[in-house]
Amino acid sequence: MYRCLVQTDALTAERIILGREESRHLQTVLRVREGETVELFDGAGLTRRVAVRTVSRSGLTLAPLEAPVAHPRLPTEVTLFASVIKRMDWTIEKAAELGATRVVPVLTERSVIRIAPDAREAKAERWRRIAEDSVRQCDGAWLPEILPPVTFEESLPRLAAEQPVFVAALSPSARPFREALAARPERPAKAGYYVGPEGDFTPAELERLLDAGAIPVSLGPRILRAETAALYGLSLLNATYLFL
Ligand code: SAH
Repeated sequence: MYRCLVQTDALTAERIILGREESRHLQTVLRVREGETVELFDGAGLTRRVAVRTVSRSGLTLAPLEAPVAHPRLPTEVTLFASVIKRMDWTIEKAAELGATRVVPVLTERSVIRIAPDAREAKAERWRRIAEDSVRQCDGAWLPEILPPVTFEESLPRLAAEQPVFVAALSPSARPFREALAARPERPAKAGYYVGPEGDFTPAELERLLDAGAIPVSLGPRILRAETAALYGLSLLNATYLFL
């Protein structure tokens, strides 16, 4: 079904009018017509099916077909601490698909990608658009929160709020991720997952993460690309917590 992200106010209104900007995707890409059904979502848990009443250059008018439907959040809030990598757009798309609650992009010492401080908010905006597209196409109701990139140092204080935090670590002390999850049979309200960049964490960074309480986990004997490591961990967290 056609889906469109709208503000909560618009979604809950009795007569819904979407301006040019909001209806652009529906109008120019999907070319919706009068009478067709569209599902609105607000990215904060509400969806609502509506019928297209009128189509014009200035926008669309829509008539609700049902009351707004509230979808619960995933039972465990997952925060992905993702070192900024070349394939960051892909990583954001997949994190949104897999229902991450939040993505904290981190500029680590060996990150190949550098982002000047004054370009960070714009970068986050771009990633938010990617997450929106991703959630739209996978029938999601919740958008992940995408923070502007932070430095490695800035990421550390955030760890305390997201415990347990697992860090994908290429070190002999890391135990298999599945084992680390099985050791904590209760479903936590929150969980964090921290992944390094293409060039890996520096030993000092990994040590700082462990000092901050992160649990080192292994993804197996192969050295995965950073984006694969992100996808792997999020999938495992889903497989564990969604069905627990
Ligand atoms: N270029 C580095 C590898 C970096 S892999 C090298 O050749 O050594 C990028 C990130 O993915 C790592 O920092 C780690 O967080 C994660 N990762 C990849 N494979 C992993 C594995 N088998 N176990 C745990 N973490 C892994």
